[in-house]
Amino acid sequence: MPTYPPEPFRIKTVESIRLISREQREAALRASGFNVFSLHAEDVYIDLLTDSGTGAMSQNQWAAIMQGDESYAGARSYYRLEEAIKSIFGFPYFVPTHQGRAAENILAALLVQEGNYIPSNMHFDTTYANIRARGGRPSNLVIDAADDPTSQFPFKGNMDIEKLRSFIHEVGEQQIPFGMITITNNAGGGQPVSLENLREVAAVYREHGIPFIIDACRFAENAYFIKLREPGYENKSTLEIAQEMFALADGATMSAKKDAIVNIGGFLAMRDEKLFQRACNELILREGFPTYGGLAGRDLDAMATGLWEGLDESYLAYRLGQTRYLGERLMEAGIPIVEPPGGHAIYLDAGRLLPHISQSAFPGQALTVELYREGAIRGVEIGSVMFAHPSPETGVMVYPSLELVRLAIPRRVYTQAHLDYVVENLVKIARRRTELRGYKFTYAPKLLRHFTARFEPL
Ligand SMILES: *Cc1c(COP(=O)(O)O)cnc(C)c1O
Repeated sequence: MPTYPPEPFRIKTVESIRLISREQREAALRASGFNVFSLHAEDVYIDLLTDSGTGAMSQNQWAAIMQGDESYAGARSYYRLEEAIKSIFGFPYFVPTHQGRAAENILAALLVQEGNYIPSNMHFDTTYANIRARGGRPSNLVIDAADDPTSQFPFKGNMDIEKLRSFIHEVGEQQIPFGMITITNNAGGGQPVSLENLREVAAVYREHGIPFIIDACRFAENAYFIKLREPGYENKSTLEIAQEMFALADGATMSAKKDAIVNIGGFLAMRDEKLFQRACNELILREGFPTYGGLAGRDLDAMATGLWEGLDESYLAYRLGQTRYLGERLMEAGIPIVEPPGGHAIYLDAGRLLPHISQSAFPGQALTVELYREGAIRGVEIGSVMFAHPSPETGVMVYPSLELVRLAIPRRVYTQAHLDYVVENLVKIARRRTELRGYKFTYAPKLLRHFTARFEPL
């Protein structure tokens, strides 16, 4: 039996959840058009749709909320957040934003021009969309091992340095207003990036005069993976590792809904004072005054406290251990996943589990629906529903290489018994896998169709 350190907390407040009957689940599925985004959350028993903004805040965060300073300008809460960001990230300037994509929007508005290229290991979908919205071209240059679900490489989020060099050579450094890297690589299975790779990426960007921006959403999980896996970092604290990571960069975007364990919040941080002044102007236009950035003072306080809690090593040992536990129990049961388990989620390989369902009939969607039907568990399809599209040149459908279902684990919310329940239900589904059938669209909008599409079974 795989084990991990028990929760380094005890539970003081609880929220009831209920398992509705099979008939009610069937009815809820039909009413939702077989799309789990359209379910009422109360009809979900174990909700693994996302780890974003779904964490449980600590008593210290709730206490910080009570102490929030709601002054329009210069609130105490802002200075508490500033202190945390300066100590952990080391950037002299930052603006708070209501979430990660607002930080990305400001960055893209200030720096991206029509036809520019923005390289990264893999852009998350909001980053991708914000760059595209300004006429830029987001480019993914992750190592090839990221596409191999059985590769055991410890840092599958790494950038391919050779690809990065030839990419810059090809498009020209003057076409690249900044370069990025996402830690951990959410779109690629929550896989970490090594400090060695971060150093190499920073050196290549620096050589070409390209500012280096880190998408820092899961920086603490990434730091703990480095501590566990990268030689020379066993005895460094996650704080020291985080400081070393960000010392390499010129700025960062952050969704605090991830590793700062808050329900809402984010920021954009940087070293360049001129860029900061422009960011403030953009912020005032879109989000709010620079000392609150579209958030309540209490939200800034919760974030300041959460940034430190997210770095706590007893929490991170439990957090990554819990995710690994779910992954290892599924592997023991012969259920294919993307290996090794990432930091915040397990990705079920629906393509390998349901080889009899063709990509055009959405195996990931079939598994997502079945998980809800069987156990009222909500995951999210990350496969052809999300990514398949007709080729602009030939009109022929282009399918993604993997058909996945992501089970994202909210922070400090579910216990091992909840995860065992998820495993038991997946085992039941796997036993009758050949009975599962595919789905077809009855409605699909052109953009981001997975959110609102409707389906029927084939
Ligand atoms: C969630 C996320 C974002 C966007 O943040 P939001 O708070 O959802 O706007 C950006 N990048 C990564 C890697 C993320 O996981």
